[in-house]
Amino acid sequence: MNAPGRAVVVHAPHHLELETRPTPDVGPNQVLIRVHTGGICGSDLHYYHHGGFGVVRIKAPMVLGHELSGIVVEVGDGVTNVTPGQRVAVNPSLPCGECEQCRLGQRNHCTNMRFFGSAMRWPHVDGGFRDHLVCAAEQAIPIADSVSFGEAALCEPLAVCLHAVRQAGELLGKRVLITGAGPIGALTVAAARLAGAADITITDVMAQPLEMAAKLGADRTLDVAANRDAIAEESARGGKFDVHLEASGSAPAFASALPELRPKGICVLIGQGAEISLSVSALIGREIEMRGSFRFDREFQLAVDYLGKGLWPVKQIITATLPVDRAIEAFDLASDKKVSTKVQLDFA
Ligand code: ZN
Repeated sequence: MNAPGRAVVVHAPHHLELETRPTPDVGPNQVLIRVHTGGICGSDLHYYHHGGFGVVRIKAPMVLGHELSGIVVEVGDGVTNVTPGQRVAVNPSLPCGECEQCRLGQRNHCTNMRFFGSAMRWPHVDGGFRDHLVCAAEQAIPIADSVSFGEAALCEPLAVCLHAVRQAGELLGKRVLITGAGPIGALTVAAARLAGAADITITDVMAQPLEMAAKLGADRTLDVAANRDAIAEESARGGKFDVHLEASGSAPAFASALPELRPKGICVLIGQGAEISLSVSALIGREIEMRGSFRFDREFQLAVDYLGKGLWPVKQIITATLPVDRAIEAFDLASDKKVSTKVQLDFA
């Protein structure tokens, strides 16, 4: 039996506790990971502030966390992809591999998905904000020596952004608008640039996120709180946009961007939560395509590979790293968008 460890557990809105949890035994095809770094995501903050989002609600205490990196300390029978001592990024998604969606190769739509730190199913799937994490061996992805644990814990949001860019189709030479400059919006700048976007405009309602997006390679930042017509003015100046990647979850962002897409333009919806009303003729007349983007699949390995090749200046989005014993302070800091992009917990 392994030693118990610390875990960050959400009980109810604004009720977060650092608890001691036993460490499960390692079964066949599983590995035990000593977690090193855990990034706080928007969904962790939704559980913390509201007990969930949309129809997803916590019905029992749940360990949070799905942006994870650490070191393999033990492997179960049959494990061949990693060995003890290896540094890894942890893929938080575990599709079943057997359902119709999995067999179709659409594993992010697995009907039996187990995703760390998610209350979507019952019983909830505990997350990885804990000292010792047992996961399927296939979820432990080795990282290059040059990649820090902090960067490795960005692979999950990076995978989300790569999937969104894949949903958008070819971006080579395209004029791209991104609404929302939180962690996903900012990392989508980097992903879109890697995919060949020629010109990237990003919007937000606060200055700090826009400064971060500029560091990650945005050509142009628009503060739409200061000027509600900023997108329309940019469209009039430089031409309509080919692709809109919506990362704010805000209905006004969608509404102000839609008229500025060119005919046959594509809108990819990444940000959760908005209730949108729209005139269908706004889509029909210009043959606009709207596409959802949900989580990721193969893109997690791509994120690990791209980081290992040094192709992404993304670690600067980490605005603070706090020891896990200060988890509540870290969650409050992560909630302050005026100062924080990505806040991570250090379990070392
Ligand atoms: Zn499945």
